[in-house]
Amino acid sequence: MTPPRILRGRLLSFNRRPLSISDTESYVYEDDGGLLISGGRILAFGPFETILLDAPEGAEIVDHRPNLILPGLIDTHLHFPQMQVVGSYAANLLEWLNTYTFVEEQRFADPAHGARIAVSFFDEMIRQGTTTAVAYCSVHKASADAYFAEASKRNMLMLGGKVLMDCNAPEVLTDTPQSAYDDTKAVIADWHGKARNHVVISPRFALTSSHEQMEVTGALAREFPDLHIQTHLSENTAEIERALELYPEAQDYTDIYARYDLLGAKTLLGHAIHLSERERDVLNETGAVAVHCPTSNLFLGSGLFPFKDYETREKPVRIAVATDIGGGTSYSMLKTMDEAYKIQQLRGERLNPLESFFAMTLGNAEALSLADRIGTLDPDSDADLVVLDARATPAMALKMDAVSTLAEELFLLQTMGDDRAIAETYVAGNPVKSGL
Ligand SMILES: [Zn+2]
Repeated sequence: MTPPRILRGRLLSFNRRPLSISDTESYVYEDDGGLLISGGRILAFGPFETILLDAPEGAEIVDHRPNLILPGLIDTHLHFPQMQVVGSYAANLLEWLNTYTFVEEQRFADPAHGARIAVSFFDEMIRQGTTTAVAYCSVHKASADAYFAEASKRNMLMLGGKVLMDCNAPEVLTDTPQSAYDDTKAVIADWHGKARNHVVISPRFALTSSHEQMEVTGALAREFPDLHIQTHLSENTAEIERALELYPEAQDYTDIYARYDLLGAKTLLGHAIHLSERERDVLNETGAVAVHCPTSNLFLGSGLFPFKDYETREKPVRIAVATDIGGGTSYSMLKTMDEAYKIQQLRGERLNPLESFFAMTLGNAEALSLADRIGTLDPDSDADLVVLDARATPAMALKMDAVSTLAEELFLLQTMGDDRAIAETYVAGNPVKSGL
């Protein structure tokens, strides 16, 4: 057991979605703050002098001034087997899947390959300040085993699941309704609730699951109502047409998943760009989350996510943000929000930096129904943290000389920052980036 630690630095933690750039009530900020951590948890959060006074004897002081300390960043959608797919040249989603992704994912039948990529994957998460992520593994149970074994070793709170796909893909990359059911149950039995792992029921999308497999997915969802479900929805117009050809009885793409009882407050719907008003209502009514993946949407030319429309409509849609590696082009949640900002600019909307940093932390934690554990610096939260350095590069340092407010600093971090701006990452109270 490591001794208690006091992290000293500028602390920032959100308590709700900021309504504007001047919404100072939406967060707590301590200019000279202290965070007392022990046993993997946050014990106290406040002004450094106060925390020091009440700290147990022998507590180690780690001085991160002048850097910012925030809850660890959260990535709600990416693909563990696609690290070597990032940056593949393709015209659109379906060409990209068939030409590169469905080839690369076949390699994860080999447990040794999965174990090797898992080490790189978790190193990269830590390098980027991402302390929780929600990943698709490949169709092979071995890929989920590799993913969760490495997550357990590092004591990271990770979500993920073996992909279910039984049609419209190479035969070596498909399961069957029965094997999908059996393997998912085995992954749940082996990993769910062990260490900090959460298993996610993961049908890839409507195009690669037969009606029979959708039935089985619905059965799993009923059998394990506490588990998250993740899939893809309305990313690309050709994909939407194909989905409705395969499921002609459905009113629209969203209705395909609704018909199999897959929509609920723990359902994560990757992309969800091109939704009708009816579909937006269904997301609102079921509580299902639209997961915005900006770098992927721009890279594959999928479309411009209507962030503000979803957020401000009478029946709002819950939103999370994510990298979508390897359709996405950066592992960095800072870069992700930089691109999210630009997408809203193209739509004539603004995404203010407070809202961006809320989204990467508490917003994503709320979208995962895990805000009681992660996403804030509140006492009793898990001590998963990121330390951000807005002077990480000469160009950033020069710009910082002209910065005078917290919001300006956050916007600089989002616009110019990447893994170099991550000064340290803490997982369950332990510094892990500096040791990489
Ligand atoms: Zn995806």
